[in-house]
Amino acid sequence: MGTVWFVGAGPGDPDLITVKGRDLITRAGAILFAGSLVSKAAMRWAPVGCEIADSKDMTLVDISGWLIAQAAKHETVIRLQTGDPALYGTLIEVVQPLDAAGIPLRVVPGVSSAMASAAAAVESFTLPEVTQTTIFTRVEGRTPMPEGESLAELARHHCTLCIFLSITLLHKVESGLREAGWAEDAPMLVVHKASWPGEERIVRGTLADIKQRCRDAKIVSQAMVIASPALGARGWSELSKSKLYDASFTHRFRRATAPVTTSTDHEETT
Ligand code: SAH
Repeated sequence: MGTVWFVGAGPGDPDLITVKGRDLITRAGAILFAGSLVSKAAMRWAPVGCEIADSKDMTLVDISGWLIAQAAKHETVIRLQTGDPALYGTLIEVVQPLDAAGIPLRVVPGVSSAMASAAAAVESFTLPEVTQTTIFTRVEGRTPMPEGESLAELARHHCTLCIFLSITLLHKVESGLREAGWAEDAPMLVVHKASWPGEERIVRGTLADIKQRCRDAKIVSQAMVIASPALGARGWSELSKSKLYDASFTHRFRRATAPVTTSTDHEETT
């Protein structure tokens, strides 16, 4: 019996799959990919004779059934998922029937669209003394939000918010941020098809105008909405630099070269 590998395909650019994911594709007997979201270019590494199927018209029962059937025939079976499999995918729903059938399975992480969106716009989700926290969330659509996770509640932290699956619900994003006290001129960023060669689009705006700017740009799908007090920091003149690179800060890889100022932060390593 073969192993089913849930592989994160990355955000769109086929080069953003991991080396491990690509190596698995080169020896896969069967691959099931999410056609509407995963670039078909990833299939170029598949060996001749590999069975390749698109899951876009399949139900969850079809998907697990297909993977189980292929695992009986092939040593390596791949379920290719967009971004990272741990975020807003169907990992657990598909894993459960595989577990019930006794099929061995593994997960290979991928580059999430949240990270690709930050990269596209040259933004950092964390910035010293601005925000040290990032929340991955969405607004309520057909999937209800659990108690305590409304955007208004989460946004009260005034940290970075990466809002998935919400580009058609920007009115809810706006009302959540307003309810949490975000200013009308709070910077916002929308990245459409982050990392997709030739298709990526970046829209910058504020809480007051981001919806109109996205409407003008006709962005209605596959977009990451980011609200963060750290947005646009590349252009700031006054930046509180990370202590790690501060000349007065000693850590286990480098001795201070300037007199020590105040810091109790000894744990950071990168
Ligand atoms: N597991 C995926 C998320 C799947 S949910 C990941 O880790 O990225 C689908 C949502 O992800 C979309 O509604 C959109 O908000 C976001 N998304 C996926 N690909 C994207 C891309 N290339 N650019 C911007 N957002 C993207």
